[in-house]
Amino acid sequence: MAVLTVREAARDTQVADRSDVVVVGGGPAGISAAVSAARNGASVTLLERYPYLGGLASGGMVLVLDDMHNDTEITVQGICMEMIERMSAWGLCVTPPDADRAPGMRETDAMWRKWARWGLFDFHTHSMPHPICFSAAFDPDAFKRASYAMIGESGVKLRAHSWFSSAIVEDGAIRGVICETKEGRQAIMGDVVIDATGDLDVATSAGAKSQESSFILTPVSRWGGVDTDRAEAFQFDHPEEFAKLDHEAKRIIGGCWNFWWLKTPLPGVIWLNCPHIPKLHGLKVADLTAVEIEGRKRMEQLMTFARTNFPGFENAYVVDYAPQTGVRQTRMLEGEYVVTKDDVMTRRHFHDTVCRGRDYYTPYRAMLPREVDQLIVAGRHYSVTPQAQKSSREIPPCMAMGEAAGVAATVALNAGVAVRRADVKAIQKQLRAQGADPGDTPSGNATFLEAAE
Ligand SMILES: Cc1cc2nc3c(=O)[nH]c(=O)nc-3n(C[C@H](O)[C@H](O)[C@H](O)COP(=O)(O)OP(=O)(O)OC[C@H]3O[C@@H](n4cnc5c(N)ncnc54)[C@H](O)[C@@H]3O)c2cc1C
Repeated sequence: MAVLTVREAARDTQVADRSDVVVVGGGPAGISAAVSAARNGASVTLLERYPYLGGLASGGMVLVLDDMHNDTEITVQGICMEMIERMSAWGLCVTPPDADRAPGMRETDAMWRKWARWGLFDFHTHSMPHPICFSAAFDPDAFKRASYAMIGESGVKLRAHSWFSSAIVEDGAIRGVICETKEGRQAIMGDVVIDATGDLDVATSAGAKSQESSFILTPVSRWGGVDTDRAEAFQFDHPEEFAKLDHEAKRIIGGCWNFWWLKTPLPGVIWLNCPHIPKLHGLKVADLTAVEIEGRKRMEQLMTFARTNFPGFENAYVVDYAPQTGVRQTRMLEGEYVVTKDDVMTRRHFHDTVCRGRDYYTPYRAMLPREVDQLIVAGRHYSVTPQAQKSSREIPPCMAMGEAAGVAATVALNAGVAVRRADVKAIQKQLRAQGADPGDTPSGNATFLEAAE
């Protein structure tokens, strides 16, 4: 069928702001990039389409910070850890203490019983009980509140309700971006632009090459009125009865991880990261619309079943559905280096590593488009194969990538060079100085790509 089109008239657009660094997308990567660049002296404008900050972490109600601890150390520090500390101080973030993560303790049944329903375990291991590891269960509004605080304190100019629509590119370099707003279209100019949209909106518009893929979509929700102590006691004290009911619940959901509910820092409020719906595309309007409707239907049935059958769920009610649809993967950059599954699995270390996740490393080249200058990409859409992205896209590594992008922008600006030429050693040094772990010192189990290292 022929595609109908209309021709839009050319128009002049008001320049609403100008900064050294323009960050597009106020999710985990974008917040970290903006705060990091501003703390290093740059003027920074942060653009976000929604009224709140946090992206999927808050708006998608993705309530566990994980993928930040290997067997021996916490590998993501810096702004991510600062976020955890701020939320913990308000009693709105829960982490297993050192004693519960000590060797010999972390794999015991007692620790499993205590922490499993918080989701604070190492799900990469196949052994049961899964070992308890450093990770954090948090409240979505606490993430927003801490983000606003960090953005405000560091002097970032936040422009919410600003939906990026196109990149301004001249002579192969990005010079700014155009946003749709209630005031009309606005141009925001900058010397460096950081794409933290998660869907590679800016880099794609600027002409960078990418690959598209899709994974399950999930409309996340929360229920209140749940007696979690009774629910957990039933699971652990009556495992066979529980298994039968749990099997039926999973049939109704039609797609979920092993635990379809987890506890949150709010008493009696649980997090439901389900249903996972495959074969839908996170960039397609029809799919994004359908998944919300289908998800609610299934969850209504689940609620009826849970209230009648699961001890502790008799008085359960829906608190809310996440305002943002759970989209894990869409476009990924094909940048100067494309991280592969092999790189992630073999813990390959790179000479230009600037951040890390649990036990893998991210080279600065995987944040740089080949075709466009002055543009850095940070977050779940970085330069990675779809398979590798599935195990390297959690919130903490995205925050670490954002923090590195913010530093890289200022290192380049201060040296008067293009971001592609930023001194990687200087980026690593500054990241260490501000408390982040750039992954420049590989752990004992890392493998090496370049002989020069
Ligand atoms: C259902 C689900 C469960 C998950 N579970 C976990 C988990 O338990 N633990 C974990 O660590 N990770 C989990 N993840 C992954 C994690 O949430 C994401 O990978 C992470 O949030 C990526 O961060 P980001 O900053 O790259 O992107 P995002 O969180 O997607 O943030 C992108 C930001 O950019 C904004 N934006 C996008 N387009 C535009 C535009 N055109 N104009 C202006 N602003 C724009 C968005 O509104 C958003 O604020 C889960 C993801 C999903 C979907």
